[in-house]
Amino acid sequence: MIDPFGREVSYLRVSVTDRCDFRCVYCMSENMSFLPKVDVLSLEELDRLCSAFVRQGVKKLRLTGGEPLVRRNIMSLLKNLSRHLETGDLKELTLTTNGSQLPKYASQLVDYGIKRINISLDTLDADKFKQLTRWGELDKVLAGIRAAKDAGLAIKINTVALKNFNEGEIGDLIRWCGDEGYDMTLIETMPLGEIGGDRVEQYLPLSDVRERLEETFTLTDIDHKTGGPARFVDIKETGRKLGFITPLTHNFCEGCNRVRLTCTGTLYMCLGQDDAADLRTPLRASEGDELLDTAILEAIGRKPKGHDFAIDRAGESPALTRHMSVTGG
Ligand code: SAM
Ligand code: SF4
Repeated sequence: MIDPFGREVSYLRVSVTDRCDFRCVYCMSENMSFLPKVDVLSLEELDRLCSAFVRQGVKKLRLTGGEPLVRRNIMSLLKNLSRHLETGDLKELTLTTNGSQLPKYASQLVDYGIKRINISLDTLDADKFKQLTRWGELDKVLAGIRAAKDAGLAIKINTVALKNFNEGEIGDLIRWCGDEGYDMTLIETMPLGEIGGDRVEQYLPLSDVRERLEETFTLTDIDHKTGGPARFVDIKETGRKLGFITPLTHNFCEGCNRVRLTCTGTLYMCLGQDDAADLRTPLRASEGDELLDTAILEAIGRKPKGHDFAIDRAGESPALTRHMSVTGG
């Protein structure tokens, strides 16, 4: 699949549910209304959709959400999708999780061919963790991370940098990741969805974070390209990699290789644009996949050149009205 700007689309991120067992303050409001269950694709439909993308050239598949591991029977989807790893059509099957369900699932993930996962963790302070996730418990997440490590999964920790919240703790998180053998990515807050709070208050430019980190750590830029918005450095003191995802201060669109599918079968060709393609209708219209394949190619043909995020400094309105839990980040 080649888009109009010559970029090969080889990476599909799938939000398998918009629901979650946490209510992180930058992601959701406390009283979220979720999608009606009838609109949500069944696991069989998700498998059919993902398999259509694999057939069209997707090599990397990431399940996300909401919290992917709270979707009932999610392991059956992973098990089924792992057949594409066995044939070699798919190179990587992975997921992004808040870690809460990993004590239960970590070893099964390994059984289904998953080699590395991203786990979100913004603080190592239990009280702050509770404040930030509203419903989460640090102990459980740390147990989940430990279970993933013991099962042999490679781990990358995702940390959202938040002004006046964890900015003083980022060095500690880097050291902790170094000690435990995890890579880490820092994420700038993105203006997605109404959250019942002020995003200007949360926004912390990663350029500032990097400057401060360089007072303590030796950071060397490396050419570790993922086709995504992360730029990577090596940290001499820990021997690990650190990524910076800076959607607001950098333009990373020129190498974009990804599209995003929601749990209702809506395909977003760009995280930062509202244009989307409905794949549920062609999926449900017939048992064969011809209509679906045509709809996918038509959508890739509309992939825009880039995004235009901005945090509105005058007002509180988000740049895009949908929440991160819909497209999964
Ligand atoms: N529930 C899973 C988790 O938390 O890892 C997967 C979904 S979550 C939406 C994916 C990532 O997006 C997490 O690392 C989370 O911290 C990040 N995220 C959520 N809302 C965000 C926002 N407004 N700006 C930046 N990152 C955000
Ligand atoms: Fe749930 Fe992940 Fe959003 Fe937190 S960031 S509320 S864990 S979907």
